[in-house]
Amino acid sequence: MKVPLLDLKAHHEPIQEEIFEVFKNVFRTQYFILGPEVKDLEEKIASYCQTDFAIGVSSGTDALLIALMALDIGPGDEVITTPYTFFATAGVIARVGALPVFVDIDPVSFNIAPEKIEAAITPKTKAIIPVDLYGQVADMAPIMAIAEKHHLKVIEDAAQAIGAEGQNGKRAGSFGDLGCFSFFPSKNLGAMGDGGIVTTNDPALADKVLKMRVHGGHPKYYHKLIGGNFRLDSIQAGVVGVKLKYLDGWTANRQQNAKFYTELFQKSGLIEKGVVSLPEAVYADSGAAHYHVYNQFVLRVKDRDALRAYLAKEEIGSEVYYPVPVHLQECFDDLGYKEGDCPEGERAAKETLALPIYPELTDEMQNWVVDAIQSFYESR
Ligand SMILES: *Cc1c(COP(=O)(O)O)cnc(C)c1O
Repeated sequence: MKVPLLDLKAHHEPIQEEIFEVFKNVFRTQYFILGPEVKDLEEKIASYCQTDFAIGVSSGTDALLIALMALDIGPGDEVITTPYTFFATAGVIARVGALPVFVDIDPVSFNIAPEKIEAAITPKTKAIIPVDLYGQVADMAPIMAIAEKHHLKVIEDAAQAIGAEGQNGKRAGSFGDLGCFSFFPSKNLGAMGDGGIVTTNDPALADKVLKMRVHGGHPKYYHKLIGGNFRLDSIQAGVVGVKLKYLDGWTANRQQNAKFYTELFQKSGLIEKGVVSLPEAVYADSGAAHYHVYNQFVLRVKDRDALRAYLAKEEIGSEVYYPVPVHLQECFDDLGYKEGDCPEGERAAKETLALPIYPELTDEMQNWVVDAIQSFYESR
């Protein structure tokens, strides 16, 4: 049986008529960029993410970039982040001319370890960018406390975690000064192209992001600020707006799939054998309404690369997020990091494997995937 890592065709077919209506509408109005669909989406996302404002932008990467620009972070500044994330998180720090400072992860949640942050703070530190990796909110309560104590800004990279909840049931993107989301098609709420959104509760920051999205022109052609072209398409906003209605249902399917994998792996004997370890929901305090949205279901496994090759041969999709931790990427050689500087991030890069978890995945497919993994280890 073929089990792809993601099946967007199966995901979109049931709602195709509604999506075609979006295309038709925008065709009728010819209002292609920042049309009424964008404003409508911004209102819906602000409400969904429990923030006062949301500003649609061109991608998740641009959401992070405009957030740093709106906070005036640039040359001479340091920004603390995790070494175990998609490259964009750190790339944007370098792009504004600031210095990325990497703080190792917690080995259970894969998110930045709050207890390691303070040692990395210097007089130049301006901000922290925690990432809600795989759909699990970073340990935001201690991170916000550290930020407050040291007068630092917090930009949440919530690209993988829309709808996820952290301490006190607060949603991803509502803890920090700014929250950044991506509508890349493989995210839990994807567009049919690129798109992203910035959330905030700060009216002054919301206003600045809104202006910077159109090169800082306000009124048009009068510039007190330098921004960029960070505009969102009407078609993308319309598609995301339609899909948002279904997001909670899809999230519930992802969580159900995670639960079923957990049962299957527990029965498989692979955990006792010590060859597979499952992702764990992490609670910073016992009262937290913890809520993982499983953008990815990521295991630690023995002989990861051989297992991945075996699964590929069996036509089962899997992926390594991410094979090289960011502090060891070649483009950051001049930062002077070396192997051993973030040991948990480095170990995760060697041991983790993402399995298919998308909402349309069937029980039969999940059985097939776990059986294949079992056969692999039995044959060793
Ligand atoms: C996807 C992603 C981004 C970038 O989003 P794009 O829309 O692809 O630019 C940034 N950070 C993380 C953690 C992501 O997963």
